[in-house]
Amino acid sequence: MRADPGDQRRLLELQAEDTAAAQLERRVANLPINQRIVALSGDLTLVNDRLVDRRTRLSDAEAARQKAEADVAPVRQRLERDQRRADGGEVDARALSSLLDEIEHLKVRVDNLEDAELEAMEALEQAEAELAQAEAAAVSAEAELSRARAERGVMVDQARAEMAELRRRRQAVAEGLPADLLELYEKLRSRYNGVGAAELKGRRCAGCGLEATTADYDSYQAAAPDEVLRCAECQRILVRS
Ligand SMILES: [Zn+2]
Repeated sequence: MRADPGDQRRLLELQAEDTAAAQLERRVANLPINQRIVALSGDLTLVNDRLVDRRTRLSDAEAARQKAEADVAPVRQRLERDQRRADGGEVDARALSSLLDEIEHLKVRVDNLEDAELEAMEALEQAEAELAQAEAAAVSAEAELSRARAERGVMVDQARAEMAELRRRRQAVAEGLPADLLELYEKLRSRYNGVGAAELKGRRCAGCGLEATTADYDSYQAAAPDEVLRCAECQRILVRS
């Protein structure tokens, strides 16, 4: 294939734009913020699971408190009623003695049930505090995740703008290049890891990094300037400077 040496050199500019675009794509795919978003999403799931657990605990604690309250009420009423009867003086001595025994027994029972009620109230307060803590953690985990997403959004927008600029410049470089040269370049670029054209620097191909053998180098030197050379090692278009 033959092509104007100037067009051949423009392939290197085209290659530079394509390489920059590929690097930009890799950079966006490997943004550290992506990892961070994955980690923060995991954190948020854990925090939300804990929140559900704390809500369940609170509702259990509330049920336990209601039960403790319900347990003590009838015993207290009975104690009050017995006390009124004993104070009323309308029972005979034998009945009074057994009534006073029952009153003593009921007092102990009420004390125990009130202790249980107090414990249930303390447990409820504890559960409320733990729920408040879990809610605060969820709010902060959500905020952190949305901050990270917003940060990533800004980076992606910047990358998109950069990419648009690269595409615009690439198009300007590609315009006017002969179709067959461009086609060969694209074919080689897709086949050889994104690099279709490379400069011959001294005796070394910048595409594969290998130094030409003396025979190959001599043939490069002997070729007409408009002959499109290919690296004997990597097959890429070899552009003389
Ligand atoms: Zn090469």
